[in-house]
Amino acid sequence: MFSMKMMSKPNNFLKLSPYNLSARDAHSGRFKGKVAIVTASTEGIGFAIAKRLGNEGASVVISSRKEKNVEAAVKNLRSEGITVEGVVCHVANADHRKNLFEVTKSKFGGFDILVSNAAVNPAVSPILETDEAVWDKIFEINVKSAWLLAKDAYPELIKRGGGNIVFISSIAGYQPMEPLGPYSVSKTTLLGLTKAIANEIVHDKIRVNCVAPGIVATKFASAITSSEAGKEKSLSIVPMKRFGKPEEIASTVAFLASDDASYITGETIVAAGGAYAHL
Ligand code: NAP
Repeated sequence: MFSMKMMSKPNNFLKLSPYNLSARDAHSGRFKGKVAIVTASTEGIGFAIAKRLGNEGASVVISSRKEKNVEAAVKNLRSEGITVEGVVCHVANADHRKNLFEVTKSKFGGFDILVSNAAVNPAVSPILETDEAVWDKIFEINVKSAWLLAKDAYPELIKRGGGNIVFISSIAGYQPMEPLGPYSVSKTTLLGLTKAIANEIVHDKIRVNCVAPGIVATKFASAITSSEAGKEKSLSIVPMKRFGKPEEIASTVAFLASDDASYITGETIVAAGGAYAHL
């Protein structure tokens, strides 16, 4: 029964409401005691993922190719109070990958979450006019390195008694973007990789999922987001009529890597402002 006493509650409610707290306080704790590795994480979507997981309590290991980028990102995240280490890691370099895992183990004793985020698109051309070297580079970074990272992470996650792997695909994986044909196919491959690995290791309490971002105005997407013409063409496929924010991809990754998604594996969540996404 509604009473005047209850009517006096809203003030208290407001004080306690998660909507009234900072993002850090509202979400703190979901990853407390967990360690996360995020590749290609010194800017853009990867950086936002590292920040989100860190703000929710994870110790984070960030990485990318350039030392100065790693140093700057570590400094930035530490200034937010996040426990973070940085490693130079070009994901196609076997020694770098090995070092990424070694540093993580020596600093934090192991890890529970791997987010494989690195991708390249070195050239644009119609798919049947693409140089073989460009095709190989795209598949080496976007697919093979993702598979190798998961392969190396697997025994470590077993030692932890379970964990999470999240791949970063793209809306282009569902709907090939002209003239990003080979890149689009590499991202479609990640949808299959997610399902294949998920099924094989489900009994090890390791969940494997994927996020397919829509167009996010990062450096990576600047060719299709910076000019007015590019913007108009890109947004023509987005019902929300705006680009995504790195934080909106990060929150989706955080959901999948958290116990909130405990019954989800082998799935890809599309975060693309309503863009059509069916194979
Ligand atoms: P971004 O803002 O340009 O950031 C790229 C990050 O990756 C940087 O930290 C860069 O640092 C690092 N990096 C590049 N090549 C690397 C390599 N070989 N090994 C390790 N690190 C590397 O890119 P983004 O837009 O966030 O893209 C991140 C992911 O989201 C990619 O998988 C991309 O395909 C996907 N995605 C993006 C969009 C979009 O619209 N932006 C849409 C769908 C999917 P260094 O230069 O120091 O290496």
